[in-house]
Amino acid sequence: MYVGVFADIEGSFGIWRMRQCRMGTREWQYGRACLTADVNQVVAGAFDGGAARVLVKDTHEVGFNCLVNKLDPRAEYLGGHYIKPSLFGDITGLDLVLYVAIHAGSGTQDAFFPHTHYGIFSELRINGKAVAEMDIYGGYLGELGMPIGFVSGEDIAVAQALATLPWAKAVVVNKKKETYTSGEKSRQYLTAGREQLRRTAAEAVRCASQMQPLHLKGPLYFEAVFRTEELARKFNTWNFPRQGATVAWEAADMIEGFDKLNRLTFLPKNLYPIRRPLAFVMRNYFRIKNTYFAPQPDSEGAS
Ligand SMILES: [Zn+2]
Repeated sequence: MYVGVFADIEGSFGIWRMRQCRMGTREWQYGRACLTADVNQVVAGAFDGGAARVLVKDTHEVGFNCLVNKLDPRAEYLGGHYIKPSLFGDITGLDLVLYVAIHAGSGTQDAFFPHTHYGIFSELRINGKAVAEMDIYGGYLGELGMPIGFVSGEDIAVAQALATLPWAKAVVVNKKKETYTSGEKSRQYLTAGREQLRRTAAEAVRCASQMQPLHLKGPLYFEAVFRTEELARKFNTWNFPRQGATVAWEAADMIEGFDKLNRLTFLPKNLYPIRRPLAFVMRNYFRIKNTYFAPQPDSEGAS
């Protein structure tokens, strides 16, 4: 079995504030170590559960967050964003996806760093219903035949994911500062939590045959509510129908809908013809920057 471990960062054990997720900060350098530890547990769990091959797909921001030299050497690593064959790059042949360190969707009350796809949106809706990333990425991967069988993250994020992916195995991660800055008690919480990641990931892989590729029935009507009308105007270079801060588009399925979302978010019309060399340059720039020019970590008193 070929298993993909997809990594966001907000829902990692050890992370309690936004700055720990912001690329380039010393706190993020600490957050990267937290994420890498979580990812390694899930990779180990995937192998325990019977995976023959594991691919770590780094997805947060520009897609270079894991500390690659500290990753389980048995796993392959795919960082950065792509145009072809998918935004995630070449993920062909994955039998199951385990999604580490997720967060709640845009507009969720009292959630840690809630957003869907990108911070410019205050809400994303499909067919009138507010969605989180597991709906969109899950639906996209589902149409490629890949089920999501595991999630970890804050309780509300996990609840949202399980509403969409009821078959998935889940680990809940606390987001309070004192959980991670209370000495021995924190170390025990971290150890127990990460062991749970490994056990639960193994269970997900063993139960892979019960996992279902998510399939949202088309046609799909997308609405992206931007934080301001000005942002909506600026990003909507594709002239999708817009009303105030809300931009809408239709798609036959999630693959088309996700493609249009990515055009709206990352690919202005004037840059679209050079999207492939652009993605190549961006990827290599950030790969080098985040690998060789990273700041010293600041754990701000974490245990
Ligand atoms: Zn993220």
